[in-house]
Amino acid sequence: MNSSLATVAYIGATILFILSLGGLSNQETARRGNLYGMIGMSLAVLATIFGPQVTAEGIPMIVGAMLVGAIIGLYAARKVQMTQMPELVALMHSMVGMAAALVGYATYVDPEASKNLDSAAHAIHAGEIYIGIFIGAVTFSGSVAAFGKLSGRIGGSPLLLPARHWLNLVGLIAVIYFGREFMNAHTVQDGMVPLIIMTIIALLFGIHMVMAIGGADMPVVVSMLNSYSGWAAAATGFMLSNDLLIVIGALVGSSGAILSYIMCNAMNRSFISVIAGGFGTTAAAPKPTGEAAEPQGEVSPILAAETAEMLRDAKNVIVVPGYGMAVAQAQHTVFEITKTLREKGVNVRFGIHPVAGRMPGHMNVLLAEAKVPYDIVFEMDELNDDFPDTDVAIVIGANDIVNPAAQDDPTSPIAGMPVLEVWKARTSIVMKRSMASGYAGVDNPLFYKENNRMLFGDAKKMLDEVLMALKA
Ligand code: NDP
Repeated sequence: MNSSLATVAYIGATILFILSLGGLSNQETARRGNLYGMIGMSLAVLATIFGPQVTAEGIPMIVGAMLVGAIIGLYAARKVQMTQMPELVALMHSMVGMAAALVGYATYVDPEASKNLDSAAHAIHAGEIYIGIFIGAVTFSGSVAAFGKLSGRIGGSPLLLPARHWLNLVGLIAVIYFGREFMNAHTVQDGMVPLIIMTIIALLFGIHMVMAIGGADMPVVVSMLNSYSGWAAAATGFMLSNDLLIVIGALVGSSGAILSYIMCNAMNRSFISVIAGGFGTTAAAPKPTGEAAEPQGEVSPILAAETAEMLRDAKNVIVVPGYGMAVAQAQHTVFEITKTLREKGVNVRFGIHPVAGRMPGHMNVLLAEAKVPYDIVFEMDELNDDFPDTDVAIVIGANDIVNPAAQDDPTSPIAGMPVLEVWKARTSIVMKRSMASGYAGVDNPLFYKENNRMLFGDAKKMLDEVLMALKA
């Protein structure tokens, strides 16, 4: 393929990726968005393999590597449970980071890559390598740490080293210093030492950054690493002089940054305070002392049959799904119940909190999989004012996102985070297995409210019983 044809293919792929992002912004067009993305990626890969940058001898190696990658990817995609998706995504981000760092080293030791460069171009090339490896290494180790946290292999509470901000500052100064050494190096051997030292600092920095973030701030980490992986890909594009990779990396990087901003807004937190870490620790957050911190009394349990009766008698019902619905894989039963109630004339709507579950859009994906109609699925802001006119608010395996302490108790670690105000409904029913706390590890005063009932048990099992009672 000649270079003009490859350029045309790259432009086509870029347009498809932009259309893909546009499609993914709405549930109804998400499938189409995915399709555009797949076609764009196939076009990009084919144009690269058969383009002018790859020689005929290189093709078998690339195809071989792609086959191995495809087998691993297919196996992981088939095996992964829906609840393991966040950690799989974190692992994927780490691969992008590792690739950027390795490409950086390969480009640096490749004499062909810097041949025929004048001194200015040489300096720019070295700068690209240094920055690319830095971003790649931070993304790699940060994503591995996030994988550990999301999969529960590493505890969720933040690691707060003494003088941690100073440690970060010293690390940054060292990276700048070794950057100067690297730029001034005359041979590859001379440059290798500062490059390796910087890589080690970057790896430690990535781990430290993610380990310092805990509790309910993790959603921002997921989207932030998403953004970093985009910038790492863009850096790889600069190193390989591949325009498509630069554009795609920038698209992913900026959309991840926008997502991080949205997540911060959803949690009423500033990006800087999230990055500074320490959320949800007893060390950083004062021990809850307010009214909402302590158990407010007895809880009132309810049976599945009684729940069914309440739902049948209701005019307006709001369903609030959370992480427990994903664990129990209860979305299909939720849909069956919704269908049955709607047939009986009950107005059923869904309220989705932006950080519900364990990854952005987690609940939307599950509900779409169960074929819940999109027009009854609402964002938190769209229906939070409607709870006072709601007969039953049913909470399925959610906890932090319906915790009134976020509003009532300024000393609560989640104070200020907007939540779904289910307690304002005539009756709220919380479905979970025990009195255990949610991801942020804080007690939930909702459970003790007078108009709240607890339906204890696995969400799938309980909902099956509710459905049976509804149909009886
Ligand atoms: P939570 O983690 O607050 O609560 C989930 C609840 O589900 C638990 O209290 C648990 O209680 C219950 N549960 C677990 N398994 C089952 C089951 N099989 N059947 C019934 N209930 C079950 O989830 P939320 O969705 O309310 O909030 C999300 C939290 O995760 C927030 O703190 C958010 O910041 C954080 N987070 C979100 C990310 C995102 O991108 N969305 C990423 C990382 C973290 P019990 O054990 O008693 O059953």
